[in-house]
Amino acid sequence: MLFDTSFETEGQIEIRELARKFSKDRIAPIVEHDEVTETFRREIIRELGSLGLTGIPTSENHGGSGLGYQEYLAAIEEIAASSGAYAVSVAVSGLPQVILDTFGTEAQKSKYIPKLASGEWIGSFVLSEAGSGSDAASLRASAELKGDHYVLNGTKLWITQADEADVFIVMARTGGPGAKGVSSFILDRSMSGIKMGKREKKMGMCISHTMEIILEDVKVPVSNRIATEGDGMKIAFTALDSGRITIAATALGIARAAIETAIHHANIREQFGKPILDFQGVGFMLSDMLNEYQSAKLMTQRAAMLKDSGKPFSIAAAQAKVIATDMAMKVTTDAVQILGGSGYTREFPVERHMREAKMLQIVEGTNQIQRLVISRAMKEKGN
Ligand SMILES: Cc1cc2nc3c(=O)[nH]c(=O)nc-3n(C[C@H](O)[C@H](O)[C@H](O)COP(=O)(O)OP(=O)(O)OC[C@H]3O[C@@H](n4cnc5c(N)ncnc54)[C@H](O)[C@@H]3O)c2cc1C
Repeated sequence: MLFDTSFETEGQIEIRELARKFSKDRIAPIVEHDEVTETFRREIIRELGSLGLTGIPTSENHGGSGLGYQEYLAAIEEIAASSGAYAVSVAVSGLPQVILDTFGTEAQKSKYIPKLASGEWIGSFVLSEAGSGSDAASLRASAELKGDHYVLNGTKLWITQADEADVFIVMARTGGPGAKGVSSFILDRSMSGIKMGKREKKMGMCISHTMEIILEDVKVPVSNRIATEGDGMKIAFTALDSGRITIAATALGIARAAIETAIHHANIREQFGKPILDFQGVGFMLSDMLNEYQSAKLMTQRAAMLKDSGKPFSIAAAQAKVIATDMAMKVTTDAVQILGGSGYTREFPVERHMREAKMLQIVEGTNQIQRLVISRAMKEKGN
């Protein structure tokens, strides 16, 4: 009742239940162990793929499920409730699919999308560098045209699941400074010169590996450039607009799992002769947590609905990302507080949820950058 989703369509509920059952049966039992050992299980992605959950919004004629972002966010929320890391993995593998579905040639689409959509292949989105995070358009990795191929050189940082990826969408400089000098390329794992650097030791989401990639004279055929030279940042930002809905959905799943644990604990933990839920200080905290979760969910669904109906959605997606990830950070921190000493231990999942939530305020454009995007939209013409 508290987490009622009966206002969703039958199709959305079906996808939600499919993802929930799989995540509870297959991911929840291994998540705590694998977070500690930093183990990513590729078979989980394949199994999610066999259920049709790794290519939900990708067009059916390229092997996707051809559904909308409302179904996609329902699935991601359910996966995230068991593991933020696997939700992020599905979301990141979705970025190359969005990019190729939108900008790819028929040959690029038919070669890469079906295997990504089915979960057979894993994809990476390769934009950030040590010197260019928020200011992504200042990237330095270079792509030099030599006859029928480009030669890529440079070092990329913080790349999710690069060590597992079969396909990389890489942004590199083909022209002068700024966004107009950046182009996008599809790199296959088999291309020589793609080297893995250090694997980051992270605060959370440890199942998902975050890698440095070194590109050393990687020969990429011209046919693997996406769209035209100079379109690279437009392509990256288009993917990130959609990606922000999936990051918001991940935040919803993490927050909901933390609230559920906190509610249960507040019911069974007794102090001063009664359940701690009966103390107004705890009950009001839980009430606020639930209200904020439901509000963020509506914001996220609004962004997904706009996208699904083909209307402009990038501001709505930025708003959903900020609201949902800030909510998840607050709610998971409060859940740790409600569990008291237990909340701070690894006996309970809420400390993991709190560490997972922090990542979401940083990736796919920090929450400050989202606020910048939203405030820029307020600019009146001529000012
Ligand atoms: C776990 C993890 C996974 C990631 N996965 C990927 C991936 O798969 N692919 C990829 O390309 N990148 C990835 N990233 C990189 C991520 O996108 C960047 O970390 C993020 O964009 C921020 O860049 P930065 O770390 O350089 O921070 P900076 O840009 O240096 O920012 C530092 C601080 O300054 C603030 N700031 C910067 N500019 C402004 C401004 N104009 N106004 C107000 N505040 C500002 C930021 O909000 C932040 O708080 C990942 C990062 C992490 C942590």
